[in-house]
Amino acid sequence: MSLFTLPPIPDIPVTGEAAGYPVRRIFCVGRNYAAHAAEFGNEVPEQPFYFTKSPANMVLSGAVTPYPSGTENYHFEMEFAVLIGAPLFRASAEEAAGAVYGYACALDMTRRDLQARERKQQRPWDLGKDVEASAVIGTATRAADFGPVTSQRISLLQNGAVKQDSTLDLMIHDVPAILAHLSGYYHLAPGDVILTGTPEGVGPVQPGDKIEGQIEGLSPIFLEIAAPD
Ligand code: MN
Repeated sequence: MSLFTLPPIPDIPVTGEAAGYPVRRIFCVGRNYAAHAAEFGNEVPEQPFYFTKSPANMVLSGAVTPYPSGTENYHFEMEFAVLIGAPLFRASAEEAAGAVYGYACALDMTRRDLQARERKQQRPWDLGKDVEASAVIGTATRAADFGPVTSQRISLLQNGAVKQDSTLDLMIHDVPAILAHLSGYYHLAPGDVILTGTPEGVGPVQPGDKIEGQIEGLSPIFLEIAAPD
């Protein structure tokens, strides 16, 4: 028995499955496409690096979320999300590849001005990245139904105009490599979701904007930005 009741964290819907996928943790990979690192003048990391988003800051596709407070430069980042399906700790890439439950479209919404300011001052990115309603997740597809991750197209439309357009083979660190690396630091388990980084073309949103993200073979993701609350 708890002292009070928290708002429930929604399960991620899964195509062809009556039950949803419950979320425990959300990890995000930084700078995993060379062309995105270049658009901010950043070096490409030799090893993947991470930040996290609270599951309480997750919303599902179709959400209408207010433009957040404390920023004048709120950005979209379209990403390929990986849902873990089996325990992984200090795993090899081969073991990691077999532990994926499924995949989904995701948006890593970002207060870019605060991320840049905090990075410059060598502070953590939380104000820039762990923004309320900033982890947007679409309906998942089971790994076996999706098939191998190859050169599927990943794209984002803002009010119908294409802003991001790339392919999954351009990830610097591929899915097994990311999971193997991350499992050196965490006991990964079902409920853990990893956003694998964004391609180039990120940009600001405004209230009233309609965002649609697409990855070949997955359900599309939708987000609408409302006026600040
Ligand atoms: Mn990102």
